[in-house]
Amino acid sequence: MSLPTHHRAVAALVHAELCPSVLAICMTRLGTGADTPRVEAEWMPQPEETRHGLIEVDKLTDRREVLKGTYDVVTPILYRHLHVTVCSGDLLDLDLDELPLDGEVALEASVRQLRETGEYWGTARRHRSIRRADAFRHARRITVHHEPSDKALDRVSSSQQSTSTRTSSSAGTRARLLFPHVDTVSLLPDAVDAIRTWSPKTYDRPRNPPLLELLAKTCSPQHLCLAFRLVESRDWEEHREATVSGQWQLVSRINRLHSDGWDRLESMTIHDIVHQVLPALEGCRNVYHFSPHVVRTSRDQSGRYRYAFPGGVDATGIQGPPWNIRSWQLSTAIKNLFPSGADAEAALKGTSWEFVGVEGHILTKRYRDDDDESGVEWGQVGHLVRDALRNALPLDLPAREGFAQELVDEVFTRIHYVDAEQAKPCESCSRVGMQGAVVSPLEHTYVESIARSFEGLFRTPTIPLPVGAELAIPSMIHGLNPR
Ligand SMILES: [Zn+2]
Repeated sequence: MSLPTHHRAVAALVHAELCPSVLAICMTRLGTGADTPRVEAEWMPQPEETRHGLIEVDKLTDRREVLKGTYDVVTPILYRHLHVTVCSGDLLDLDLDELPLDGEVALEASVRQLRETGEYWGTARRHRSIRRADAFRHARRITVHHEPSDKALDRVSSSQQSTSTRTSSSAGTRARLLFPHVDTVSLLPDAVDAIRTWSPKTYDRPRNPPLLELLAKTCSPQHLCLAFRLVESRDWEEHREATVSGQWQLVSRINRLHSDGWDRLESMTIHDIVHQVLPALEGCRNVYHFSPHVVRTSRDQSGRYRYAFPGGVDATGIQGPPWNIRSWQLSTAIKNLFPSGADAEAALKGTSWEFVGVEGHILTKRYRDDDDESGVEWGQVGHLVRDALRNALPLDLPAREGFAQELVDEVFTRIHYVDAEQAKPCESCSRVGMQGAVVSPLEHTYVESIARSFEGLFRTPTIPLPVGAELAIPSMIHGLNPR
C-alpha cells in the first residue's frame, strides 16, 4: 500500500478523534476485511512513543521516517481545533525568542530551510519552537477547558516578557506568529472561573491568567464565547454566594483582553447566565443567552446525572432569582460601556446587545396576583424586564458625564430581545440552546474556589509531560475534563 493512501486512512481515523491505542486497533481491523486496504501496525505510534495522547517526536527511533509522515498528515487535523487543559502547558512550551522576526513568510522560509537540512525534526530548542509554531499555523479555533498552571507556562511567558522589553513592534510580530489564523476562542466554565478568581502577583492593572494574556497577544479572533457553570435551580442562591467574589473582576478582565489585543472581535457570546454580572465590549455584537431552569432527572449508566431544562409554564414554582435581577443584569451590561467621561458616541459604534431567553431561570408562579416572594406570573417576566429598562435607561444614561440625551434612542435601537427557541447557533462554538452546557454539582464550585484561594501555596496540579511531546489528541483530553 502506498504511503499517501495509508496516511489518508490515518487522517480519517484521527479526524474521528480516536486516541493512538484505539487507532492502532482500528488499523488492525481495517486490515482484516477482504477489500479494505491493508494497514500495517508499523505506521502507528507505539505506546512507548506516546504519552497522555501525545506523540513524542524525540522518542521516535528507527521508525522515525515512517512516523514523520504520519505527523505531517495528522498535524493539520489535530491542530485545527486546539483544546487547552491543565496538562496543555507542554503544548505551549516554546521559546518566542527562537522564532523569526518578520511574520509568517519568514517562518515559512525557516521551516523550508529546516526541512531541507532535516533539522526540522531536531530536538534543539530552536527546532522544537519552530516546529511547534509551524503546527500552530493550522489552528482555527481554541477551546480553553482549564487554565494550565502558571508554572506550565513559565517558559513561554518569560520569553514573551523578554521580547516585549526589547522593541515592542518586533515582539508583537513574533508573538502574532503563534496563532495567525485563529478565528474563534471559547472559554468553558473552569476557565471563566479562573479569570474571575485568579490572583496575580500585582494588581497594578486588570491582569488575566497567563494563558489568556498570552492568547491576547498571539491571536486576534473575530468571535469569542464564554460559558458560566450551571448548577441545579434549587442551588442557585448558594451558587451565587459561592461565586459572588470576583464578578466585577471578571468584567474588567474581559475588557482587558479586548484592549490587550482582541480588538478585531465582531461578537462576544455569553452562555448559561443565571445571576452573573455581565461584561460587554464596544464595537461588538454582545449576545447573552440566559439559562432556563435546571432540574436533575435521572442517572445514566455511568452514574452521572441527567438534567432537564424546563421553561415557561412547566417551570413555575422552581427555585430561581426574582425577575428584577434580570433587568439589573441587562442595564448593567449596557451602562458598563459608558463610564462617566467616556466618548459615548464612539463606544456605540458597531455595538449592540442581544438578550436571548430573558425569562429563563426566574422564579415564577402559574397565576397572576401580587408580585411577592413566590415570584411573578410566568408570562410576565419579559414585559417586566423590558419596561424596567425602558424606564431606567433614559434617566441613568444622561446622568453620566459625556452622555448626550439624544443618544438614548440610539442605545434602544441597538437592544434586541430574542426568544430562546429562535436563538441562532453561537458564532464561536456553534452551540445551540442547552446542548453542551456544563452542569456541575454545587460542591464542584466550592472545590474550585478553595483550590483558587490556596493558589500560590499549592499550585494547581499538572500532569507531568515529557519534553518533546507534540500532538494533543482531543479525545484523550476530553477524558480529563470533569464534565
Ligand atoms: Zn459559544
